[in-house]
Amino acid sequence: MKLYNTLTKKKEEFKPIKDKEVGIYTCGPTVYWFAHIGNMRTYLFEDFLKRVLMYNGYKVKHVMNLTDVGHLTSDSDSGEDKLEKGAKKERKTVWEIAQFYSDFFKKDLKSLNVIDPTIWVRATDTIQEQIDLIKEMEKKGFTYTIKDGVYFDTSKLEKYGRLWGENERKEMKGRIEEVTEKKNKADFALWKFSPKNEKRQMEWESPWGVGFPGWHTECVVMSVNNLGIPFDIHCGGIDHVFIHHTNEIAQTEAVYNKPMANYWMHGEFLNLKDGKMSKSSGNIVTLSTLKEKGISPLAYRYLCLNTHYRSKLVFSDESLEFAETSLNKLYEKTVELSRSNKIKHSNKYEEYQGKFLEFINDDLNIPSALALTWDMIKDNDVTDSEKYDLLINFDNIFGLKLSSVKSEDISESKYIIKTEKDGVPVWTSDISIIPDDIMKLIEIRNETRKNKEWDKADEARKEIDKKGWQVEDSGEKTIIKKK
Ligand code: AMP
Ligand code: ZN
Repeated sequence: MKLYNTLTKKKEEFKPIKDKEVGIYTCGPTVYWFAHIGNMRTYLFEDFLKRVLMYNGYKVKHVMNLTDVGHLTSDSDSGEDKLEKGAKKERKTVWEIAQFYSDFFKKDLKSLNVIDPTIWVRATDTIQEQIDLIKEMEKKGFTYTIKDGVYFDTSKLEKYGRLWGENERKEMKGRIEEVTEKKNKADFALWKFSPKNEKRQMEWESPWGVGFPGWHTECVVMSVNNLGIPFDIHCGGIDHVFIHHTNEIAQTEAVYNKPMANYWMHGEFLNLKDGKMSKSSGNIVTLSTLKEKGISPLAYRYLCLNTHYRSKLVFSDESLEFAETSLNKLYEKTVELSRSNKIKHSNKYEEYQGKFLEFINDDLNIPSALALTWDMIKDNDVTDSEKYDLLINFDNIFGLKLSSVKSEDISESKYIIKTEKDGVPVWTSDISIIPDDIMKLIEIRNETRKNKEWDKADEARKEIDKKGWQVEDSGEKTIIKKK
């Protein structure tokens, strides 16, 4: 399989270090606020990658961190710690904030059907290891101390900025302006001292003074300690190329004199029409926002499946609606095909499976794999049971829970009720789950429609709608669902 490597700026054949096992490290969230759907796009891309590796028979050891200390409001090593700031705002302890948003994040991942990492690590659980790593850097002459902390001297590392391309190099000029005492603009904090006039909630003793680690050290410790060095793949959002990942690489090269990871993969951003979606600017959409509008997180997953991870995605209500409609069609198709008689696999089955594998193994070309799936559904040369088997097989990558979509035999029933379980639709003919007043209105609507009393029928529909239910007609049948 081929993967695009930010390090070489090329698609490369993927060669794991161990024969059938792959080590992946993904930078996790900074847990001071809700993760937004932009953040989630990055975690979805990483989930797609993991699923493609597993589909190819690899066992995946995946480590993800939770940043609960050290991420400052400014990339220039100044500003407040995001966690301390969040805690003040909510009048809670930093520990409470970290716990709450970590738990919420894990729930969000579940609702998107993202496979859990093999190992979760909290930054605050690795403080001693981070201090030990900084000591190593100090021993090798890569650090210096100024008023507000211990810094990494980037001029000591010949190849600083390995991940940058030529254009990025130009952009990086003057990137970090603040902390005036630094030797070089790009130097970054390894250990920050607690401010003299302020008591931080999170602070630790260190050989250099009481303080807290800089953001870029935690990921080095957590990845290397769990996966070895080098490990296979390091991922994150595209914004990490310039600073965070560059500075992770700098530290590992200083201490181990080895490359940190063989492949570096970055997911493009999800933006709003009028710009960036970011927690700090406050213009965020979360999965909860979508749920409040009755949109399933899996519809968002579908939207992300449909855009290549290296392309920008401009989020709009219309694009999400389109994804939701397509996903619902896919569910309906799946449930229809699930009732088909088993018929042996033909050549077409292998042909589709082969093409599918080709797409996903071409740097996760999942949008093409999804388009292929729709072609397959429409292909008259493929039997229904083959189609169903292929859908279930492809869903190992898509993760849309297609095998959970259920329907009892509703062919004889006049009423079909669409309910939901674990985020996927379930169809039933059991009208007992519909409240009596709604059922009465539905009957009025059907009766008045039969008599062509359209105004009355419409009035009944509006009333049903007001009470939080929806009715649609499909031939002789009435489809009912709760909004
Ligand atoms: P943070 O919680 O800010 O540390 O970010 C968590 C992850 O989300 C990182 O991998 C970021 O690169 C990524 N990220 C942040 N904003 C966006 C966005 N708008 N679209 C996609 N990924 C993002
Ligand atoms: Zn990181």
